[in-house]
Amino acid sequence: MKQRINTICVQGGYTPKNGEPRQIPIVQSTTFKYDTSEDMGKLFDLEASGYFYTRLQNPTNDCVAAKIAQLEGGTAAMLTSSGQAANFFAIFNIAGCGDHVVASATIYGGTYNLFHVTMKRMGVDFTFVEPDCTDEELAAAFRPNTKAVFGETIANPALTVLDIERFAKAAHDHGVPLIVDNTFATPVNCRPFEWGADIVTHSTTKYMDGHGAAVGGCIVDSGKFDWMAHADKFPGLTTPDESYHGITYAEKFGLEGAFITKCTAQLMRDFGAIQSPQNAFLLNLGLESLHVRMPRHCENALAVAEHLKGCDKISFVTYPGLKGDKYYDLAKKYMPGGTCGVVSFGFKGGRSAAENFMKHLKLAAIETHVADARTCCLHPASATHRQMNDEELLAAGITPDLVRLSCGIEDAADLIADIDQALAQI
Ligand SMILES: *Cc1c(COP(=O)(O)O)cnc(C)c1O
Repeated sequence: MKQRINTICVQGGYTPKNGEPRQIPIVQSTTFKYDTSEDMGKLFDLEASGYFYTRLQNPTNDCVAAKIAQLEGGTAAMLTSSGQAANFFAIFNIAGCGDHVVASATIYGGTYNLFHVTMKRMGVDFTFVEPDCTDEELAAAFRPNTKAVFGETIANPALTVLDIERFAKAAHDHGVPLIVDNTFATPVNCRPFEWGADIVTHSTTKYMDGHGAAVGGCIVDSGKFDWMAHADKFPGLTTPDESYHGITYAEKFGLEGAFITKCTAQLMRDFGAIQSPQNAFLLNLGLESLHVRMPRHCENALAVAEHLKGCDKISFVTYPGLKGDKYYDLAKKYMPGGTCGVVSFGFKGGRSAAENFMKHLKLAAIETHVADARTCCLHPASATHRQMNDEELLAAGITPDLVRLSCGIEDAADLIADIDQALAQI
């Protein structure tokens, strides 16, 4: 029976049998016991499925990953220790030294740094394009060695909206998958696979956990990208893996399983960025109310954005759910039910007014975090994005006076009162 998002949030991924625990058990064990060496050997050869060591797979994690796969409408998923690990694995699973990736310029600062500095040192080159570049500019970014296209549904903190259909078409025209970081929208508000994306990633640290309790990440495969049809581009999936007894992932695990199986068997094995089962359990508690929290985050953010729009000390308000916003139409198309709880805005008094305003907030706490049940705020130019020069800042959609306010699920009237008293003091 096909279930709707609200039901999957609560009950997806785990169906207890007669007499089993109602809640997903935390399997707090590093290892699993077998009767014979032959039994275990089959697991190592990927001939039988089963657990042997939590660095590769754990039953708690698998239940939660299955729920997220269901929410996104994908065929397979894996949890990672953080969103950073999820994005690194998603790219590195198909692009290595000598390869190239096209990425939206307006992405999370941590992801930009991962791509632009660390992965560059590993020999992977990135070309960054504006999310609203022309089709010609987008096509011109591809090279013969391009292996993927990457963007964020709603960019953190620039709040640009990715035209998923357009980016998916460009990716597919060049024989490569589109990877979308869906952290800010969550599958409650947007399911990128329905618009042609092939792989989705998440920082589950944000809305999915939603309580500021557990850092984590997730990778979901749509099962739609045909690796064999572009076999020469993706030898890691389409030729034998000597480190796994000559298995060819795309042959053995098909469209639906190849990407995640390779990512688990190679990258999780070698880099070890597994999510702890404890954190997976906490993540699942968050997922159980995600569909209830998201609408409130969005309602509060819209109320705050509309209020800020009328404040005379404010120079601009960016919120994709706000009428008149540059990305309003794209947001309505891809996220008709709401976008996210994050609003950004600037000050007529510039950078110092922004810093001064934040000092006077009482309910909204200064944190690098976003997407928490509690409202929090950040000045990216002096925190998450401080490694960028002004030119890079502007390219990422950030001005020196920009404040990012992540609206929680408190009462909107209290959030607005807090903003008003802080504005009155600057
Ligand atoms: C926070 C964030 C990340 C990084 O996730 P961590 O869990 O902090 O490692 C990646 N992408 C987006 C859009 C984010 O907001």
